[in-house]
Amino acid sequence: MSNLRCPACGASKIRLAHRKSISDVFLSGLTIFPFRCQLCADRFRTFLGRRTPNPRRSFERVEVSFPVWFRPRRSKYPDESGQEGVIENLSIRGCRIRSATPVAIGSRLELEFQHSNDSFPITIEEAVVRSSANGAIGLRFTQLRRSDERRIRQLLDVWLPELLPSRR
Ligand SMILES: [Zn+2]
Repeated sequence: MSNLRCPACGASKIRLAHRKSISDVFLSGLTIFPFRCQLCADRFRTFLGRRTPNPRRSFERVEVSFPVWFRPRRSKYPDESGQEGVIENLSIRGCRIRSATPVAIGSRLELEFQHSNDSFPITIEEAVVRSSANGAIGLRFTQLRRSDERRIRQLLDVWLPELLPSRR
């Protein structure tokens, strides 16, 4: 179990994935579960040999605290400075922003965040707002340049703890 790796990229940062299809449920009976690579998002199935609860999320979000600037995607005013916030958690597929600015669910944003003082900001070309309540904005990334994705992957590789196919 401890040497389970992503078949696509070879990373060991994998987690049990949420089971939703009929075959997911059927194969669970044989303790064959879907997994998600946390770094390249590849989904694959493998035999675990024991039962385990169905995780709510397929991508574990790491707790972070990065300044972020965001604005509507393809703003009519490209020079307009963005709204400010703080990224509170991050995965390869999305993040949560803390900000006082209200945004509409379903709207599309572009964002830029600074994960260290001595590197260029990382840009998310497009993210869709999935939730927005009490100053917390839940986002799913829908467009991301390869170079930015690679940098997020490197961050997650450092921040995510090693393999723990969910003992919860
Ligand atoms: Zn992978």
